[in-house]
Amino acid sequence: MSDCLFCKIVAGEIPSNKVYEDELCYAFYDIAPMAPTHFLVIPKEHFASAAEVTEENAPVIGHIYKVIAKLARELNLDGFRVVTNCGEIAGQTVHHIHFHVLSGKELGSFN
Ligand code: AMP
Ligand code: ZN
Repeated sequence: MSDCLFCKIVAGEIPSNKVYEDELCYAFYDIAPMAPTHFLVIPKEHFASAAEVTEENAPVIGHIYKVIAKLARELNLDGFRVVTNCGEIAGQTVHHIHFHVLSGKELGSFN
């Protein structure tokens, strides 16, 4: 999608601090970290959010969780949180689905 920030990051048109890349997904450090370790994992294929998961694009979500588990092992993360904001009311600012991975400090409870 031509006017999407994260598509431009995948295409290398906007610089990013890469953590990991394969044929399906791309991981990079968040520009405004909310925890000592904070990176984002995104599918290379553009779709907006968790509200747009379909039979066709669902496999990449499982793949991304597998990649998160591998990166957590490699980075020796001692516990982590995975967050995907869906819709502006939930705080989504970039409308290309992304999974925040947060670690390195006590993360507050949501409830
Ligand atoms: P969300 O608010 O869930 O849509 O998350 C979007 C995230 O993207 C925020 O945590 C931003 O700090 C992050 N972000 C925005 N622009 C960039 C960028 N150029 N490189 C890395 N992270 C970014
Ligand atoms: Zn995109």
